[in-house]
Amino acid sequence: MFVDIAKVHIKAGDGGDGAVAFHREKYVAAGGPDGGDGGRGGNVVFQADTNISTLYDFRYKRKYAAKKGENGRGNRQNGKKAEDLIVRVPLGTLVKDAESGRIIADISTHEPVIIARGGKGGWGNTHFATAVRQVPRFAKPGLPGEEFDVTLELKLLADVGLVGFPNVGKSTLVSVVSEAKPEIANYHFTTITPVLGVVSMGEGSSFVMADIPGLIEGAWQGVGLGHQFLRHVERCRMLVHIVDISGSDGRDPYEDFKIINSELEKFNPELAKRPMIVAGNKCDLCTDEQIADYKKYIEGMGYDFFPIMAAIRYDVDPLLKKIQEMLSKLPPIERYEAEPAPVVKAEDFDDHSVVIKKIDGIYTVEAKWLYNVMRSINFDDYESLNYFQNVLMNNGVFDALREAGINEGDTVSLYDVEFDFVE
Ligand code: GDP
Ligand code: MG
Repeated sequence: MFVDIAKVHIKAGDGGDGAVAFHREKYVAAGGPDGGDGGRGGNVVFQADTNISTLYDFRYKRKYAAKKGENGRGNRQNGKKAEDLIVRVPLGTLVKDAESGRIIADISTHEPVIIARGGKGGWGNTHFATAVRQVPRFAKPGLPGEEFDVTLELKLLADVGLVGFPNVGKSTLVSVVSEAKPEIANYHFTTITPVLGVVSMGEGSSFVMADIPGLIEGAWQGVGLGHQFLRHVERCRMLVHIVDISGSDGRDPYEDFKIINSELEKFNPELAKRPMIVAGNKCDLCTDEQIADYKKYIEGMGYDFFPIMAAIRYDVDPLLKKIQEMLSKLPPIERYEAEPAPVVKAEDFDDHSVVIKKIDGIYTVEAKWLYNVMRSINFDDYESLNYFQNVLMNNGVFDALREAGINEGDTVSLYDVEFDFVE
């Protein structure tokens, strides 16, 4: 079954916790702190796999979680970072944030892409020893890994898309010019999966042709199977419109041509502008006059026309040559740019609750909303830092610290940031 859309939940691994430990040795009364740091949680990484052609598996397995980083241990042993979870998807999969629709990545090359980042490991107590705090009974927990829902949308990568009504000979053409073997039969909707075929043109030159099944009138609104497949035309650099000019199926090839074009336009006006040439198929069932009339009709509208007999591969080469020539002048297959994640602001949260815990002289702040805000802050940038100060001031964080009894110069620990409190 061909599945080209799916929604899954992904969760990167949490960071491992830092350790509170003290050096112990025989005859040494009280050793110094030696708790190691926690390891980073595993990332969730998406990678293209050419052996996978649909998103079928994602219908059944909907949760993908990477492992937690290892906790730190005594003796300054840092926890190991967790392995990344590699999620394999078909080439051409768009990964979008399910909530906002933002494009996170277009998996259209073989580069692995990190979709959700694992949390940093917490520091062990070794880091917290100072001249005045020689016995820190304090370490940091690992930070949570990113977690959200994504929608996966497959948009095939093909140079040429074959469009046309059912039964005109699209699958037949792909099968005679490439190694791909789509199902061919004399009834509608034999092909329910877009099929990609590589067409070799000699001298190492080749292009990818996609058999896009199921377009009929109303396809753009979801009639038939067409709507589902129109998405796959969107990336094609050019289209070959196949028409059964014999009208062998009781159809009118003149009407058919217009209907398919208008379906493409209604689905996405960009598609109507895509370079297109026309192949008139089943010429063996036509009179010369029928062919000449149709050629006139098509060329009259400014399209190049190629009469063929796909079933016996007759006169198919001039069509392929033309495709190759056009492709050599067209821009490459469209890749979608990742859209930047929106900046998370304090105003985005209704609940600004803050919990302060004083451990070993350090004031730790726990506030989930603040953690999310902090992820969008660049601590190396002066303005960003200023904004952050204001967030702390205006949302009761400083008040809460004062209430907990903080004094000038005390240390504040805020997830992976630590600073001295200054009034
Ligand atoms: P699709 O639905 O567009 O993929 O059409 P198919 O490739 O499945 O072909 C539909 C029918 O048309 C099949 O029975 C083919 O054998 C037949 N067909 C394909 N090309 C030709 C041709 O050049 N001449 C004739 N007479 N029949 C053809
Ligand atoms: Mg077919």
